[in-house]
Amino acid sequence: MALVNLGGLLHHALKHGYGVGAFNVPDYETLQAILDVAVEKRSPVILDVAEVHLKYIDLEEVAYVARRAAERAPVPVALHLDHGETFETIVRAIRAGFTSVMFDGSRLPYEENVARTREIVRICHACGVTVEAELGRVLGGEGTRERFEADPSLFTDPDQAVDFVRRTGVDALAIAFGTAHGLYRGTPKLDFPRLEEIARRTRIPLVLHGGTGVADEDFRRAIALGIAKINYYTQLSLAGIEGIRRALEEDPEIGSYPLLLQKARESIRAVVRHQMEVFGSAGVCDRFPDLCVACEQCFPSSEPIEEPRPCELSTPEAPSERLSEPQLRQLVERVMRAVLEELPRRNGPA
Ligand SMILES: [Zn+2]
Repeated sequence: MALVNLGGLLHHALKHGYGVGAFNVPDYETLQAILDVAVEKRSPVILDVAEVHLKYIDLEEVAYVARRAAERAPVPVALHLDHGETFETIVRAIRAGFTSVMFDGSRLPYEENVARTREIVRICHACGVTVEAELGRVLGGEGTRERFEADPSLFTDPDQAVDFVRRTGVDALAIAFGTAHGLYRGTPKLDFPRLEEIARRTRIPLVLHGGTGVADEDFRRAIALGIAKINYYTQLSLAGIEGIRRALEEDPEIGSYPLLLQKARESIRAVVRHQMEVFGSAGVCDRFPDLCVACEQCFPSSEPIEEPRPCELSTPEAPSERLSEPQLRQLVERVMRAVLEELPRRNGPA
């Protein structure tokens, strides 16, 4: 099966009451561990490449590898940019063949978040790419053992969520209702009535960020109320470390680096396996053969993928019908400028 469009996948999840895990891919061991388990568990999956992890992995290279790995995996795989913060990174992700992006304008004042998200949605939709945005703020951080907790004053406001979805046209919305990135200080208390109200009134797939540390029962309840995508990473990272630590304890003289990485991968697999069971995505490919039909909405598997799928806006003969002439010209100029500025930097001096 080819890469699938995130929008179609999340609507299927919402309709059938399961959640799809979006697991971060900061390295190729983690990528393989996630895909191994998705295939083993017959589960759809989202490969999540975070802008903050681009210091560990190259965006274009991981897209190349992930797209080819997804082609070989007999389950639906979405390739998603996580917490994209700049216009340039979003455009690079589109060019590299990501099937969806998250634009995180949650730090911006509300009206600016609306305006910038709306612009990203127009560009992405013209290219067939799904957009997730964030409203309210999910605090915290990753990659340390520091602990965080949610701030109720930053929870997503249901009235604002309705206004935001209507004005931006986003396909999925990350909401703040008690979760935090990284490790939790104490037990997270999720505001389920808030989640229920936002889901009922926006009627789009909602996203839970900060999955590590949330109780299995809370996941199940959140999914039943409208969470369709769960971002889950920190525990994967800790499991990888634990796998390596155990291997070194068992054999301090271990002399094989790939064997060490294999131990890390095994530990990561165990976490992904458990989470796919909890999210209810395990076995979905067997329960719903129609998911394969749904994949026709996405990038067809017969499409040659030697080159990144070109953005329609990059060719003047394929204008989007939804934009007026001046709007289109302005978007094309911005996209081309971003692409041209990016090329010399990535390819080195000519
Ligand atoms: Zn997040």
